[in-house]
Amino acid sequence: MKVQEAVRSHNKELIALRRDFHAHPELGFQEFGTSKKITEYLKGLGLDPQTVTKTGVTALLKGKTDNGPVLLMRADMDALPVEEQTGLPFTSEEKGLMHACGHDAHMAMMLTAAKILVSMKDSFDGTIKFVFQPNEEIAGAQSMIDDGILENPKVDAAMGVHIWSPLPSGTLGVKSGAVTSSMDVFKVVIKGRGGHTGYPDSAVDPVVCASAVVQQVQSIQTRFISPMKPIALMFGRISGGTKNNIIPDSVELEGTIRYLFATKPGNSDNPTDKFKKMVTDICNSYGCTCEFYFDHENDAVINDPTMTALAYDVAKDIVGEANVAEHASMACEDFAAFGEHVPAVFTFIGTASEQAKSTYPHHNPRFTIDEETLPIGVEFLVESALRFFKGKK
Ligand SMILES: [Zn+2]
Ligand SMILES: [Zn+2]
Repeated sequence: MKVQEAVRSHNKELIALRRDFHAHPELGFQEFGTSKKITEYLKGLGLDPQTVTKTGVTALLKGKTDNGPVLLMRADMDALPVEEQTGLPFTSEEKGLMHACGHDAHMAMMLTAAKILVSMKDSFDGTIKFVFQPNEEIAGAQSMIDDGILENPKVDAAMGVHIWSPLPSGTLGVKSGAVTSSMDVFKVVIKGRGGHTGYPDSAVDPVVCASAVVQQVQSIQTRFISPMKPIALMFGRISGGTKNNIIPDSVELEGTIRYLFATKPGNSDNPTDKFKKMVTDICNSYGCTCEFYFDHENDAVINDPTMTALAYDVAKDIVGEANVAEHASMACEDFAAFGEHVPAVFTFIGTASEQAKSTYPHHNPRFTIDEETLPIGVEFLVESALRFFKGKK
């Protein structure tokens, strides 16, 4: 297999690239060193990379002719404010910063895929737009779209991958439809009237009201929205009161509402609308009032069926049908923004291995990847691109 051999011959460089990115993490929109490295590497391949959206990089690769479609291939660049505890020899050199999500691997795989695709450019008609995207953790994709990344030339389809520790090494996760969640974050301030815990009837107790809220909103899924539509309604912070014998004036609740389907405010299946109504009703029944603060952070990544079929075919040829999982996650991914404009597919590259100690969750200080899975990712990217253009002939 031609592509597999090419990938194998670049394995050493692939690992070195990933380790170099890993040792030098940078936060979203501060990826200046990372951006420079990517630019220089792409220049070395004979491409003409441009800096976009602060620290982003893009470069075009034209095939034999540029008559064919334009495929956007995206890798994200940002690290996290996490103090690394892996003890690896190429551990982060930046205090308090770490590539704890695997974006170091994404960049290394995409650069290696670019190198191989440059050497194969006479074998396809069309254009690849490589996109190295800053600030994935806080919706950098939308900034790139606002800056025109889908134009000049106009993009026809998009693909992206994520190295993924919830899936075992040697597997690929490919699924049509929603594969990562939409997320709204909330803060609710429940207001009562403070008082003495010996005279609760003369106060309006926001604590008992808040506890009812936490319990009762869990029935939104099933009783108000179909059980076939997954929702995770989680509270991450409860705060109120100053002393054990004082009923406080107010209690604050903060959390996230994640849902694995596409909907909009005002739709009958919008979990955040239901949440707002139910919390208001509960507060009324306890004599409390409430204030809401919401922020819509991400939309669900919705994989296009045709692009997913292509990714599935490539995946089963690389790892075998038994190792292709229909995988979706309640995590968020800003790649969703691309899929809202063009047919797109987002694929998970399994990397969990006991031997490689790569079973920790993403964003954990001990998170690492199984480097054996890097070449799988490169082969997947290269083959997917080649087949995309073949299918469009
Ligand atoms: Zn992440
Ligand atoms: Zn990530």
